[in-house]
Amino acid sequence: CGIVGYIGPQSVVPVIIEGLRRLEYRGYDSAGIAVAGGPSGLELRRAPGKLRNLETAIHASPIDGTFGIGHTRWATHGRPTEENAHPHRDGSGTLVVVHNGIVENYLALKKELIAKGHKFVSETDTEIIAHLIQDAYENGHPQVIGHGRNQTASPYAGTNSANESEAVVTTLNPDGTRPTISLETAVRIAVKRITGAFAIGVLSALEPNKLVAARMGPPAVIGIGDGEFFLASDVPGILHHTRNIHFLADGELAILTKDGVTLTDFDAKPLPLKVQRITWDP
Ligand code: GLU
Repeated sequence: CGIVGYIGPQSVVPVIIEGLRRLEYRGYDSAGIAVAGGPSGLELRRAPGKLRNLETAIHASPIDGTFGIGHTRWATHGRPTEENAHPHRDGSGTLVVVHNGIVENYLALKKELIAKGHKFVSETDTEIIAHLIQDAYENGHPQVIGHGRNQTASPYAGTNSANESEAVVTTLNPDGTRPTISLETAVRIAVKRITGAFAIGVLSALEPNKLVAARMGPPAVIGIGDGEFFLASDVPGILHHTRNIHFLADGELAILTKDGVTLTDFDAKPLPLKVQRITWDP
């Protein structure tokens, strides 16, 4: 329901918690946060109920990092428990996802991923997104193949997309190692397989100081600060930090790093940021 993500010099946890508090009016049943880049790597805290329960959990077991994402959940799939609260982890435990919306085809995707050996710990549709990204991240690499004349069978090629310029092959590298792709490429592959609605925020402990956001349906905004960058499900979550906002359009994917924001479509085609100056107050 509410999403806040942050990369920058400020203390990450308070920025995210305060942002989520400013989005509380949307309603929610549980909350959670993931931070990375600190001394203990990727850290998650989640709690059912109000944000103060999450704050209590953080107080009992403090976390710190250089980038992070938080979420207040309005459950659609699975009860409002700690296990079902976002962020959701992939199977490796290095990648997390927060999500607003509904993955309509999550049962089919879950079946397919379980057959590949993935294990799920929540009842949510969102957890499938984390595993889909992991699957692409670990097994795929992008290859320009022309217009569908690729001889290498790919489980991803052509799904949900007319443009196959970023289709994926799953063969090993010549030296036998697994091919590697960037987090944003893995997210592009994953979102093309989703039927339904999503605004997502993704981070991987393996790619420090990077947040990836994508939208198809529920709103999401990017805040451009002075040496700091924000993701939120709505303007009031970050407006006290920056008034320079890009409203993510359907089919857009944003990559936030310490150095700035890059915008593309789901086929990696670069798009211009359209930063608006917000003059109203929530
Ligand atoms: N469908 C997801 C869930 O039930 C996201 C809910 C939301 O939009 O907060 O966890």
